[in-house]
Amino acid sequence: MKTICPIDSQFADVISALLKPPSPLEVQEYFDQLKSTRQCRGLKVQQNGEYGKGVYADLDFEEGDLVLKDQMLVGAQHSLNKIDCLVCSFCFRFIGSIELQIGRKFYLQDLGVSTNNDWDKQTFQHIPEDCCQIDSSDSEDNSMAEDGGNMGECASSSSKDKIPLPKEAVESLMNGALVLPNSKQFPLPAVTSCLGGCREAYYCSKLCAEADWDLFHSLLCTGERSKSLCKEALSKFTQHANETNDIFLLAAKAISFTILKYRKLKAIHLEEQGKYAIANVLDNCDLSLLLEAWKPVSMGYKRRWWDCIALPDDVDCHDEAAFRMQIKELAFTSLQLLKAAIFDKECESLFSLEIYGHIIGMFELNNLDLVVASPVEDYFLYIDDLPYSEKKEAEEVTRPVLDALGDDYSVCCQGTAFFPLQSCMNHSCHPNAKAFKREEDRDGQATIIALRPICKGEEVTISYIDEDLPFEERQALLADYGFRCRCPKCLEEGP
Ligand SMILES: [Zn+2]
Ligand SMILES: [Zn+2]
Ligand SMILES: [Zn+2]
Repeated sequence: MKTICPIDSQFADVISALLKPPSPLEVQEYFDQLKSTRQCRGLKVQQNGEYGKGVYADLDFEEGDLVLKDQMLVGAQHSLNKIDCLVCSFCFRFIGSIELQIGRKFYLQDLGVSTNNDWDKQTFQHIPEDCCQIDSSDSEDNSMAEDGGNMGECASSSSKDKIPLPKEAVESLMNGALVLPNSKQFPLPAVTSCLGGCREAYYCSKLCAEADWDLFHSLLCTGERSKSLCKEALSKFTQHANETNDIFLLAAKAISFTILKYRKLKAIHLEEQGKYAIANVLDNCDLSLLLEAWKPVSMGYKRRWWDCIALPDDVDCHDEAAFRMQIKELAFTSLQLLKAAIFDKECESLFSLEIYGHIIGMFELNNLDLVVASPVEDYFLYIDDLPYSEKKEAEEVTRPVLDALGDDYSVCCQGTAFFPLQSCMNHSCHPNAKAFKREEDRDGQATIIALRPICKGEEVTISYIDEDLPFEERQALLADYGFRCRCPKCLEEGP
């Protein structure tokens, strides 16, 4: 394939240092440190030559035990899902109130189908700023609502069989004038705005707002206090990602995270050097600091996106090279938009197509669906379960709302995320653990539960695919992950 990115050749040495797989000792140290910040007593990550990393039980687990709660390294909500669910941009907890969740959804849906309607603008003026995620003028979500976007099942169902709520009702749901019966039983954290002043990121707390700002968002914010070079480029990048592949948003977060971390390490380093620092050190990239900043990303298994992506069924195998070239060019387009928005001279190598392709490939190979159950669904189930007379009374208010929502009352928060420890878990078609959200798991963390007793020393495995499929179909799906499964079940069923 021809080279299309000049940074690839200019920074070949730095790039190969960044992409060098970590040594077993580095892996050990990194994950030991990480484990101290996670709810995961009794796990260890081990590198074993042939199969790469694996996660092993360090004590016995019973069936149903919590094995791991893993905090994501980066995550993003699907763009269309942002219409349905207002969640914290950092921990993905639902925020605001039941009424705001519902009212805002109707409001944004109407905005999507009839942009710049007069009543939209009027309504907009009555709603507190905090409640509106989207500007009525040129929002990404509007265009997504119109063109269908790149997400499947978590999108709202079509509007058939739904009876729309009058606009006054939508407005009073959003501004708090209409309180639904018993909704106090489902309190949600108040909405906290972005520190940078954008109206795209909202949080469950000041803590989440600050953490997100510190780690990622200060470079990726479109608000007035953003540290981005060009907010217009940033908006174009986001729009391109929403229209093509939202994994680009995760890649942008990974790069932003590395740049911000590098700057912090550099500041500390310069302070330590004090008067010995010479002027030309200031603008030069310090490779050891860049490698340190990059460490969390370096730990993930990576391949180039355009090399590892599965050939879609509708692409003829003779067109494979052209298809892979197209994917590479798509990544390059996205990277140029990102570069215009957040370029950093000292971290220039991060803007090489080689690095970008590997980051995207890492997310494609390792990402987990991000799912958070909706309190709106809980609310309507609760109303349905009330004793008859109470239910009858409540339904006088809730029935029109439910009729307007249709099946959408249960839409959960959906997105995609990369979890550092979970991503080290290997696949088995007869896994001993699985990702499963319990009633109390109300944020974006990955929760891994034991499916059967796991003994100390045993490897903890999860299934990457539907393990009930026939042997050949399983192997075909797993080929996309770049391996042939040799788990006990496959050895037994295989040829
Ligand atoms: Zn939060
Ligand atoms: Zn912001
Ligand atoms: Zn298998």
